[in-house]
Amino acid sequence: MKLNATARATLKEAGITQAAWARANYMRSGKWCGDECGCPDSRCAGGFHHSGTDDCGCLPVLIGQYFEWLRGAPGISTFDKRSPEYVNRVVVRKDGK
Ligand SMILES: [Zn+2]
Ligand SMILES: [Zn+2]
Repeated sequence: MKLNATARATLKEAGITQAAWARANYMRSGKWCGDECGCPDSRCAGGFHHSGTDDCGCLPVLIGQYFEWLRGAPGISTFDKRSPEYVNRVVVRKDGK
């Protein structure tokens, strides 16, 4: 399954590469194997979460969580902490230590 144009545009706008998005969603090869709408649930656009292919409500929510997660927000277990994006993330600490 390839990401559709809407999903690709949404990720691009957010500054996330397709490979990074795949890896964050436990697809270690960097090859997307979720749904075409950008949701890692492969049944998403097929009516499981929504029935069109361009009206995914999951992707914007997931992208929001992704940035929170990169910032180290607690309680987000959606993404793969072994992905290079997470391992190499730049953590900005307020105390400067
Ligand atoms: Zn979904
Ligand atoms: Zn979807």
